Amino acid sequence: MASDQVGAAHITDDLADHGAGLYRFALSITRDPALSADLVQDTFVRAIERADQYRGDAPLGAWLRRILHNLAIDRVRRASHELIVEEVEDAWMSNEYTVDPEATAMRAQTRDELLDALLRIPFIYRSAVTLHDVEGWTVREIAEVHDVGIPAAKQRLRRGRMALVTALAEGHERRRHLEGVPMRCWDARIHVSDYLNGTLDTETATLVETHLGVCPTCPPLYAALVDASDRLSALRDDDAVVPPHLEAAIKARLSGTSPLPAVMDRPATIE
Ligand SMILES: [Zn+2]
Repeated sequence: MASDQVGAAHITDDLADHGAGLYRFALSITRDPALSADLVQDTFVRAIERADQYRGDAPLGAWLRRILHNLAIDRVRRASHELIVEEVEDAWMSNEYTVDPEATAMRAQTRDELLDALLRIPFIYRSAVTLHDVEGWTVREIAEVHDVGIPAAKQRLRRGRMALVTALAEGHERRRHLEGVPMRCWDARIHVSDYLNGTLDTETATLVETHLGVCPTCPPLYAALVDASDRLSALRDDDAVVPPHLEAAIKARLSGTSPLPAVMDRPATIE
């Protein structure tokens, strides 16, 4: 118990500095101010409970974001029309699957429709897309906060981007027959994420470009992916600020005389 209190005390001293950053992080992945405020408070509670597990070998902010992301996985409500990512990927595996690029681009231009499509992606995939294409994080940074390896983080980003385009294209999906096209469409499509990130090797990039030159179904999908990624960057909100009541509550609780902030006694009915 004594050692727990020492661990908790050394973390508590630094927690207040992370309130604003954590709130912005929560808001970017959930787009829900009330839920974000709850998640920040719950993260502090969890951090204090597990203070003895914090070794100081990673920045405190990164450790806190990982806790918050884990809590968010359990707390984010599933959208009623949430896409099933495996079904999206199955559709993209078909050489004949494509979208109407004009209809998809039109929807991506409208902020509400873009957000609506984004919110239909299951949380971990949406989180990967948001952190990368809205917030400008690297795949490595996403892997850290998701607590997975780089390949898994890349897969989440790829699947999230495909799901976003499928959601934007809903009702404007197309099937077209094709013959005599080099490279399977799926092989071209799984490379699109790396192609967009500029991390594809030259040889594969050339193959992909050759495929795109003759394939009737892949170019609209590529165009929709590029367009959606571009549009997402406009969703970035640098002005997101911590609500004053939350900031005050965090400061009050963390600067209290108790080594454990009163946030732990927070009634469940607050808000
Ligand atoms: Zn193709």
